[in-house]
Amino acid sequence: MSCLFCQIAAHERPATIVHEDEQLVVIEDIRPQAPMHVLVIPKRHIATVNDLAAGDQELVGEMVRRAAAVAAARGYADRGYRTIFNCNREAGQTVFHLHLHVLGGRHLGWPPG
Ligand code: AMP
Ligand code: ZN
Repeated sequence: MSCLFCQIAAHERPATIVHEDEQLVVIEDIRPQAPMHVLVIPKRHIATVNDLAAGDQELVGEMVRRAAAVAAARGYADRGYRTIFNCNREAGQTVFHLHLHVLGGRHLGWPPG
C-alpha cells in the first residue's frame, strides 16, 4: 500500500501520534502552520470528502468530535481554532487520504488564501 496516511495508520511509517483508537489516528502535521496543527485521519482509506458514503456518518462525527477534544485538551476551546477538509487540487489537497486539519494558537485570517 503506497498511501502515506495508510502507512502511518498501520505504524509502517513514523509519525507523532497524539491519539489512536479503533477508527482514527491523530498526528502532528510535519509542516505545522500554527502552534497547534494536527491531522485527524481515519484508519480506513477514503480518498477525499467526495468519497464519503451514507455509512460514514458516524466516522465523520467521530473525526469532528475528536478534533474538538484535542483542541480542548490543548486549551483552545474558548479562544478558538479552525477545522479544515481540503478537497482536491484547487483546495490544496496534497495527500489523497481523508484528513481533518485542526489549527490553533494564532489569529487565523479569513477569507483563507
Ligand atoms: P493537504 O494539503 O490538505 O492534503 O494536507 C496534507 C498535510 O499532510 C500537509 O499539511 C502536510 O504538511 C502533512 N504531511 C505530509 N506528510 C506528512 C507526514 N509524513 N507526517 C505528518 N504530516 C504530513
Ligand atoms: Zn490511505
